[in-house]
Amino acid sequence: MPKNKKGDYMKNQIEIKFKSLPENEAFARTCVSAFCLQLNPTLDEIGDIKTAVSEAVTNCVVHAYPNKVGEITMLLSREQDQIHISIKDSGVGIENIEEALTPFYTTKPDEERSGMGFTVMDSFMDSLVVKHNGAKGLIVEMTKRIENKQAV
Ligand code: ATP
Ligand code: MG
Repeated sequence: MPKNKKGDYMKNQIEIKFKSLPENEAFARTCVSAFCLQLNPTLDEIGDIKTAVSEAVTNCVVHAYPNKVGEITMLLSREQDQIHISIKDSGVGIENIEEALTPFYTTKPDEERSGMGFTVMDSFMDSLVVKHNGAKGLIVEMTKRIENKQAV
């Protein structure tokens, strides 16, 4: 991995903005898996990350912008053997984030939602932080360390 003049590792970073259309879930999954390839991940690691991203993007499509199409910003960055993912929307937001993170908590039980999206993100990634995006919307931040020792 490249170092700067001071000898510190440089961060690789990419930001993608896309509409909250259902077909963009697959797009987001493909982007994140392509970005992770630089760390030489296993299929299991890629699968975990794609699943977590899928849950976060689905939440933006279904919950953040329920009756309209809004914008989603996905920031991917790599620092040494860590992948950081931030998925941000400017939608309706969540009043009580702690409650929303509880397993099986859902505001859409009638639409066959199981309330397990955040729980899946938390268990498939090393860390999950959910915070307000200013006065509007949500930021979901996730990190995963890629174990593969061949990574450079
Ligand atoms: P599942 O993911 O299992 O289909 P779910 O989406 O309801 O069901 P979670 O993904 O855990 O479950 O989300 C829990 C709740 O948090 C949602 O029901 C919704 O009320 C709220 N929520 C999640 N993401 C957002 C978001 N981006 N904007 C607004 N509300 C959200
Ligand atoms: Mg969900």
